[in-house]
Amino acid sequence: MATAKTRLPAIFFGHGNPMNALGNNEFGQAWAAIGASLPRPRAVLCISAHWYIPQLAVTAMTKPRTIHDFGGFPRELFAVEYPAPGDPALAREVQELLAPLDVELDDRWGLDHGTWSVLCHVFPQADVPVIQLSIDETRAPHFHYEIGQRLRPLRDAGVLIAGSGDIVHNLHAYAWGRHPVESYDWASRFESRVRDLVEAREHAPLIDYPSLGKDALLSVPTPEHYLPLLYVLGAAHADDAISFPVEGMDGGSVSMLAVQFGD
Ligand code: ZN
Repeated sequence: MATAKTRLPAIFFGHGNPMNALGNNEFGQAWAAIGASLPRPRAVLCISAHWYIPQLAVTAMTKPRTIHDFGGFPRELFAVEYPAPGDPALAREVQELLAPLDVELDDRWGLDHGTWSVLCHVFPQADVPVIQLSIDETRAPHFHYEIGQRLRPLRDAGVLIAGSGDIVHNLHAYAWGRHPVESYDWASRFESRVRDLVEAREHAPLIDYPSLGKDALLSVPTPEHYLPLLYVLGAAHADDAISFPVEGMDGGSVSMLAVQFGD
């Protein structure tokens, strides 16, 4: 991989079950293929569903810790470390880009599993610096889209903008340990509606996703796994190629769909 001099893509990853970090299933393989297809980024800026807090913050430490923010999984998952360096200079750049919004330079968080369970496949050497930007849970959906728009110039500065969540994320309906299962009709319908709107570049209904009806209510029972998509949509250019490099519905109700703008 040569150092990127061109525009980096913006990619939304459906991260699904943290167990995807282990082994070599179809999702891990597809994430690895994405990494192999990219010019080497200067850094990754990740917006993860799992840093959903009542303020804006960006990780600014030189060595972010690997956070095992889940329970009830096998010991080997707790043993996974993803020792990618941080990028304090990029954190300050993000802070300046988003001014006058108040963005805290954080030294307590690190890399949560929304970030490392995917990146351990995309960049398995953990040699690309990674920072995370929090999702401010007090803000309406349009705010998150606007943050994405303001981050967009970073794509021309060698930064890969990554959102990590799940377009459909209903754990009440999720078939834990029972695979394979059929997708729920509402889950498949919502995912394909989102996909169609993404392809048509119709962002307004994607931002106002509750307007998409009952399928949206069931697919997005809480906002945090959907909202990372809005950052990636905001970071998209009108002439970006659009692709869906990972597909699949895990456990019937967790969408693994990845959405990539640019190549
Ligand atoms: Zn998650």
